[in-house]
Amino acid sequence: MRILVVEDERSLGAFLKIGLEREGYCVQFEADGERALQRIATWHPELVLLDLSLPKRDGLEVLAEMRARHDDASVLVLTGRSDADVQVQCLDLGADDCLIKPFSFQELAARCRALIRRRGQIANAVLRHCDVELHRISHRVLRGGQTIDLTAKEFSLLEALMLHRGECVGRSQLLTEVWQMSPEAVTNVVDVYITYLRRKLNAGGNACDANSGLIRTVRGMGYSLCDAGCNLSMHKPVKREVMGRVPVVAEAAYA
Ligand code: CA
Repeated sequence: MRILVVEDERSLGAFLKIGLEREGYCVQFEADGERALQRIATWHPELVLLDLSLPKRDGLEVLAEMRARHDDASVLVLTGRSDADVQVQCLDLGADDCLIKPFSFQELAARCRALIRRRGQIANAVLRHCDVELHRISHRVLRGGQTIDLTAKEFSLLEALMLHRGECVGRSQLLTEVWQMSPEAVTNVVDVYITYLRRKLNAGGNACDANSGLIRTVRGMGYSLCDAGCNLSMHKPVKREVMGRVPVVAEAAYA
């Protein structure tokens, strides 16, 4: 689940980003209304946390333009104004909920969960490909009916691949979407996490065989999921001794 935090108080924005990432969400942060609208158009967050008082374009303008564009992201307005008029105006413009500052992080996280739950009941709550199911609300992954334990980043990486099923997804795109890193960043973190994912997901064979399982390497391009109709064998846990060597990275730096 992608959440965009739009907040010009940078310390508050950074605090919310870190806290929500710890809850397992994929989070980006913008500090003015103009950049927020650009980010929404290109990154398609499912939820936007929107401060009202912003430079360049204020929160009400951002909200009005989102709805004029028929962008259906859920919007939680964060405002220091407690008068009912502002809240009514926000809801009339298409906000889904309002939260008055100051608020506790626990309350914010609960409101986010409620909005995402409500949204998830509508569409795309469960992504399916071959025998894999990815439950975006409960953060569960099943293969052949068996639960696969993934870390938050592994989950986000698989989610990105499943959202782009039918396409080849480049490393730079995955760096941006999953790690919020510059597409030019020099790192092998995508390849390393693909190896981790294959280790957990691959269908019984050698996890280092780039084209034997669910996630395929497209040489020089990136990664894609196998065709939906492909004949994958039943998932079996892969023995560690047949895994081959996994590249070493400072995992904590990316997790
Ligand atoms: Ca503000």
